[in-house]
Amino acid sequence: MDRQHKITCVVCPRSCVGTIAADGDGIKSVSGFLCKRGEEYGRAEVTSPTRMLTTTVRINRAILPLLPVVSSRPLPRDMLLTCARHLAAVRVEAPVREGDVIVKNILGLGVDIVAARDMTVYEGARFD
Ligand code: SF4
Repeated sequence: MDRQHKITCVVCPRSCVGTIAADGDGIKSVSGFLCKRGEEYGRAEVTSPTRMLTTTVRINRAILPLLPVVSSRPLPRDMLLTCARHLAAVRVEAPVREGDVIVKNILGLGVDIVAARDMTVYEGARFD
């Protein structure tokens, strides 16, 4: 039996809402999207949804205690929590430059986690 998925397209500000019918063998029909890009987005949302991961990792000797990080590409949505838990145990040393790779190929998914901003050393601190 087909299952109906209502998908709101986020590719452009029109936010079309499409309907995708699918069963265990795959997608049966796609409707409601105004363009091909939306159709492709909707299909991907049903078959293999992905999301960018944005979070923070702990950083030593820096002006702030947490460094914002982001995935270099979207990750499988069902792996986001596992990746976030993995990053909770990561600690880096200042200084860090925006774009520096913080975790290469996280959990073997082929996606790097990179720094989302520069983070300088806190000059007022004593690190004995
Ligand atoms: S389906 Fe096309 S027009 Fe509609 S929101 Fe998506 S990209 Fe924009």
